Amino acid sequence: MPQTTESEVRSYSRSFPTIFTAAKGDVLRGHDGSTYIDFLAGAGTLNYGHNPETVKRRLIDYLESDGLTHGLDLTTSAKLEFLNAFTDCVLEPRGLGYRVQFCGPTGTNAVEAALKLARLVTGRTNVIAFSGAFHGVSTGSLAATASNYYRSGLHTTLGGTTHLPYPDSPLGEYDTMDLLRRLVEDPGAGTAKPAAVLLETVQGEGGVYVAPTDFLRELREFCDRHQILLIVDDIQAGCGRTGSFFSFERAGIEPDLITLSKSIGGYGLPMAVVLIKPQYDIWRPGQHNGTFRGNQLAFVAAAAVLREYWADGPDGAFVTAVRGKGREVARRLGASTAVQLGARVRGLGLMWGLDLSAVPDVSAGKVSHLCFDRGLIVETCGRDGEVIKVLPPLTISDENLSQGLDILLDVLQCAVDGTSAA
Ligand code: PLP
Repeated sequence: MPQTTESEVRSYSRSFPTIFTAAKGDVLRGHDGSTYIDFLAGAGTLNYGHNPETVKRRLIDYLESDGLTHGLDLTTSAKLEFLNAFTDCVLEPRGLGYRVQFCGPTGTNAVEAALKLARLVTGRTNVIAFSGAFHGVSTGSLAATASNYYRSGLHTTLGGTTHLPYPDSPLGEYDTMDLLRRLVEDPGAGTAKPAAVLLETVQGEGGVYVAPTDFLRELREFCDRHQILLIVDDIQAGCGRTGSFFSFERAGIEPDLITLSKSIGGYGLPMAVVLIKPQYDIWRPGQHNGTFRGNQLAFVAAAAVLREYWADGPDGAFVTAVRGKGREVARRLGASTAVQLGARVRGLGLMWGLDLSAVPDVSAGKVSHLCFDRGLIVETCGRDGEVIKVLPPLTISDENLSQGLDILLDVLQCAVDGTSAA
């Protein structure tokens, strides 16, 4: 399919080369009538699937009522509905008292705002980030993103961050807390005291690495002791993806700042927020500004999905089902021949990675391409695209989850047997 107009920078369209014309729930349709089970979920933006019917109705009603659609941060009925739903369904049931900052519409906008606020609050510059981290590609976020591939896209100094090894990585497990203590508690260590520690509790783009709960608790305690802000980037792992609304709930910790984007918009609609502990909400009015800070349609959709899926408490029916589906994915991947040959299965909730780096002659990229030919959209992640990432809509039917796994495991088996080009 020749693409002469769009920039070379395009990416997902290269991996999944068809023209998509429609999508519903967990299935996309191509222009030639082909259908594809979705294990990508718009890179995590579609936790509730494509075009959920009840949300679509709300959006149509809102448009027909001539509700505001522009993005200035005016107070609108749509924004109030979202804030009320977020308070009722997410914050209050978890005893959380965060303020909500609306920033620009994408994930990196939220990370930029969080980093800026942490520096403003502490008067310090340095931020600790981690190997394998992905936080976006605008300059401030890119300084915290670890991948050399993305970092090489900017020919200027990416300053103000120190990267430490994440507790798990392609090089194996690591005692990150020990190194952090040595850097911060030794006045002769040569590292500036950080304003913040920024992390994904489950790394997505880096290869689906899960931070242990003990590490998260120790990190929280360490940050408290040194008046360092703890920022959790829950842009990919949040909104139910890891089997709870926030990915850090399993550790019982409360970050100082939280970034959310991707699925918070409810319908794949762009929206990003920073959640701020009230004592750190020291912004002056308009100090961090922007034209598009209030995507009204995203507010409408977000309020609708929060009320539909999250009204029955932190361990309600929806997340319980997500955890069950996640266990099934882990079971099926874990039983594959690839695992007997050294592949690793990592993940939480419905966010799973199958790391093929130790399996000779099997390329995750080729497995993804062959899956696409067989009607499954599944992407790769990791340092060098060596991990198959299973990230279906959280609402995926048991039948399509099972059928998608059948395709993936069959393609893998052929690759292992050497009966395909994978
Ligand atoms: N943070 C995390 C954890 C992400 O996974 C991403 C995107 O994949 C981002 C930040 C950046 O979000 P965006 O691509 O919307 O700028």
